[in-house]
Amino acid sequence: MIENIRNFCVIAHIDHGKSTLADRLLEITHAVDERDMLEQTLDAMDLERERGITIKSHPVRLEYTEDGQRTPYILNLIDTPGHVDFSYEVSRSLAACEGAVLLVDAAQGVQAQTVANVHLALENDLVIIPVLNKVDLPAADVKSCTEQMVELLGIEPEEILRISAKTGEGVEELLHKVIELVPPPEVSRASQREQSVGGQKTEDGSRTTDHGSRLKWLVFDSSYDVYRGVVVYGRVFSGVIKSGDTIEFMSNGLKFEIIELGVFTPKMKPIKQLGPGEVGYFTAAIKDAANVKVGDTVTHNRHPAEVPLPGFKECHPMVFSGLYPVDASDYEEFQRALARLKLNDASFVYEQENSIALGFGFRCGFLGLLHMEIIQERLDREFNMNLIATSPSVIYQVLLKNGEIKEIDNPLHLPDISEIDEIDEPYVDAFVVTPVDRIGAVMQLALDRRGEMKTTESLDSKRVILHFEIPLNEIIIDFYDKIKSATSGYGSLDYEHIGFRKSDLVKLDILLNGEPVDAFSTIVHRDRAYHRGRALAEKLKEVIPPQQFAVAIQAAIGGKVIARETVRALRKDVTAKCYGGDVSRKRKLLEKQKAGKKRMKQVGKVNIPQKAFLEILRA
Ligand code: GDP
Ligand code: MG
Repeated sequence: MIENIRNFCVIAHIDHGKSTLADRLLEITHAVDERDMLEQTLDAMDLERERGITIKSHPVRLEYTEDGQRTPYILNLIDTPGHVDFSYEVSRSLAACEGAVLLVDAAQGVQAQTVANVHLALENDLVIIPVLNKVDLPAADVKSCTEQMVELLGIEPEEILRISAKTGEGVEELLHKVIELVPPPEVSRASQREQSVGGQKTEDGSRTTDHGSRLKWLVFDSSYDVYRGVVVYGRVFSGVIKSGDTIEFMSNGLKFEIIELGVFTPKMKPIKQLGPGEVGYFTAAIKDAANVKVGDTVTHNRHPAEVPLPGFKECHPMVFSGLYPVDASDYEEFQRALARLKLNDASFVYEQENSIALGFGFRCGFLGLLHMEIIQERLDREFNMNLIATSPSVIYQVLLKNGEIKEIDNPLHLPDISEIDEIDEPYVDAFVVTPVDRIGAVMQLALDRRGEMKTTESLDSKRVILHFEIPLNEIIIDFYDKIKSATSGYGSLDYEHIGFRKSDLVKLDILLNGEPVDAFSTIVHRDRAYHRGRALAEKLKEVIPPQQFAVAIQAAIGGKVIARETVRALRKDVTAKCYGGDVSRKRKLLEKQKAGKKRMKQVGKVNIPQKAFLEILRA
């Protein structure tokens, strides 16, 4: 019964208690056996548990019966990540809901992500249930937090619920509020009529032309299961989906027969059919991860819907970097791992890239540095991939003196300066939404990065949008993070490509004991080359561990050395302590040392730890 369905999510700034609240809701609805109850049950990834953050959205179906009620309410709860890098996940979850519980930590107050989440929720026309969490804390400042929420949401103080997700205080009341305030999923009247007449002729005898009852399933997430193939998460917007149905993905026309249809309780539980408003998953022996696109609409092969549901807003990766397997023979496995990860995280992009020092790899685009770290850690943990990351690069257009135009996506392939007539780099029209009192700081940041201010628009009395044109290269490394810190987290950045423009660019090389390390080469503006070269050399000195011999680190532009550092020699002889001991012990120790080096990449004779590559990104 659709009137009994409530689809809602919990949104909040990081650490404000989303996952803990989800735990309480699971308890109240007896969704999880108490023996299986761990803290933050929905944070299934080890990584999430360790870092205490939610990375993935997890849908879960709860059943709740109020006193004297016959059929239980079906509550589809979607837990969301809070960090700005993952706001893409949040917006996807929101598209599948009618309501959002907005949690604010009573000791922290309204934060940047709270504001961003509210905007997202309002854009998606969700009913917002304002909740102050952690009222049990001695540091809770209920009064001023209430004022902030009233200001932010334009509501009455009485509308704000006060709970403690930890002790459970007020949580049952919150559940009642969700049932009371979040509307059941809407089914268009046309489709209700069609359902009631079973798709047959209508009263006036004409055949119905309305396709409101045809299946539309919004794919909002997916994952990969070794045995079942791709698991497609979604919500039915219209029609009914059954196991055994032949379905079609509207974006690519691919057809599959559904093998298992089910719901998350939170464990996967098969079910016969799902109707409008319901949330669940299906498997269909889909082997290729690339076939399933988040935001796609699934319909029936026989009576397809005519138009797909509106998809999701495309997101722009902010940080690009080359990822290479340490062991070249892992390449194919790495490619498969990326495809599967992409399934689970639609916000990251990748394409093939080669490097002389590192071999075959992929150029990957991420939403931010945290996102990049998380992806790398997930590749390491979930897929056992041993990877190295390079400094980021963009694509350049190089006009040669002989009239040829070359596209260069790797600084290494830049032709000799003597052959080059001009280098063009991609520019973007960037816009930053910022509080009025931070305009100066944001403008300065943009100017420092070769940005050119265009216009300023007021959003309301407190916020403005600044437009400027800036080289893409200047914003891919840490610009987003800088904007965030210049605006205490309230600023946000987006951009559109506006084409290539001529620039005075040079190639900056890093040499270790005289050998250039291609992965460290970058193309930079001449004015910034010296500064960047010095910074890179200094940083490398810090992160390259002492080797058996001295290592000279040099930064050079076109063969001219502009900075030099040295890592002094040191040998840690692990076998020294078993002098005279038996050979097997010695071998064991050496094996151990070898394993420790597994994460190192040998360049010439120099071992560079993976961490060095990561650190260089931030230099
Ligand atoms: P999330 O990042 O929004 O998912 O936040 P978590 O649910 O992981 O909670 C962050 C931290 O706050 C954890 O250490 C929780 O134990 C703690 N926490 C959550 N809710 C409460 C509460 O109501 N009271 C107190 N004292 N601590 C809470
Ligand atoms: Mg969490």
